[in-house]
Amino acid sequence: MGTFKLAKMTLRSLFSKPATVRYPYEKRDIEHLFPQMRGHLECDIDTCILCGMCQRACPVGAITVDRKAGDWKLDPYMCISCASCTHECPKNCLSMGVLPTEPTETLTTITLHKDVPAKPAAGAKAGAAASAAKPKRELTPEQQARVEAAKKAAAAKKAAKAAEGAEGEAAKPAAAEATASKGADAAPAEDPAEAERKAKMEAKLAAMDPEKAAKVRAALEAREAKKAAE
Ligand code: SF4
Ligand code: SF4
Repeated sequence: MGTFKLAKMTLRSLFSKPATVRYPYEKRDIEHLFPQMRGHLECDIDTCILCGMCQRACPVGAITVDRKAGDWKLDPYMCISCASCTHECPKNCLSMGVLPTEPTETLTTITLHKDVPAKPAAGAKAGAAASAAKPKRELTPEQQARVEAAKKAAAAKKAAKAAEGAEGEAAKPAAAEATASKGADAAPAEDPAEAERKAKMEAKLAAMDPEKAAKVRAALEAREAKKAAE
């Protein structure tokens, strides 16, 4: 049984195609045989914004992004085709080609260049300069008349406001004077009967024992205060 199986395998190997090829002299159609294979890294530099996310994601440091110079560089012989950078790219401009990197005797770096857009501040300045250089718009006589009328109305409004303010300032001292005189008039004049009563009380207190007089005086003052509060 064993001999029969071995003979069958030998005969099949003799008459079938070899399983391997003499790489790199012969190459197999990998793109069709293994379409899901991760080969070399490709970058669409037109879409790239040189953000550097791929550089940070690469575990072996195969990518270098120089935003100032506008360069995206890849060392293809350092790349291990892990595809981490393709997942991190915010613009989806990285992809894994099916074919592996070509063998070489001298190591080379792939450099892709793109012009970096001008800084927004510089752009804003340029915009301001452009708008300053714009010729002034010519107004029609009708528009000119409307503008003049609006200017005059604004000036009249301003003058009226200023006059109103001056009148108010002048009226202030007079009002203050009137209030002061009113206040003086309103001060209550002392009743003569009350004054007499107070004088009598003072005489009585003077005749009293000083300690008792102090107590009476305090009680009187408290009563006065209560009256005033009511
Ligand atoms: S992550 Fe993408 S967009 Fe950012 S530098 Fe790399 S390739 Fe360019
Ligand atoms: S595929 Fe992996 S190793 Fe190659 S450049 Fe991207 S992150 Fe680096």
